Amino acid sequence: MTKDDVIALPHPSLRKKSQKIGIVTPEILKIIEEMRSATISWDKSRDHEVGVALAAVQINRLYKIVIIRNNYDNKEDLSFTAFINPVITKLEGDIEEDFEGCLSVKDIYGKVPRHTKVRVKAMNEQGREFRMTAEGFLARVFQHEIDHTKGILFIDHIKDKKNAFYRLQEDGSLKELNYEKSVKTNKTLWG
Ligand SMILES: [Zn+2]
Repeated sequence: MTKDDVIALPHPSLRKKSQKIGIVTPEILKIIEEMRSATISWDKSRDHEVGVALAAVQINRLYKIVIIRNNYDNKEDLSFTAFINPVITKLEGDIEEDFEGCLSVKDIYGKVPRHTKVRVKAMNEQGREFRMTAEGFLARVFQHEIDHTKGILFIDHIKDKKNAFYRLQEDGSLKELNYEKSVKTNKTLWG
């Protein structure tokens, strides 16, 4: 799969709930590989952004699967970890605002409040359940991706916030969007 298989708003699947996986079949492993190739292809096409993670819904497969890059500070490292049926078992820490983007929300960034620490439970590619704790940016990534499995996008958390939306410029900088003019009634974002 390639970046062209990544769906973006206003695609209706992005607002749908994904289904839980019973057993990890070869078909599921194939979807994980497709998610990986699509994310890498997207990453290579973007100069100022890194493809950090992806949920299966973003290639229009409505399964509860998330992949997260093992080393997102290094664009050369193309390895990912898969999280099947991921759930947040506990939200901890403070709530902090920071910039967030999404492969399925083209060029729009937002300042989204998220917990700084989460506990996560998931199944690995061998079908074994595991638990982990994530902090900082990784905690944000988990909250963003697990939202995708529920049909929630980062923009939904800041829907009514006037100074939270930005657009990525050609030089890689972010420019604040006029809420009334470019956000509030934007049909691509809200359908
Ligand atoms: Zn996303």
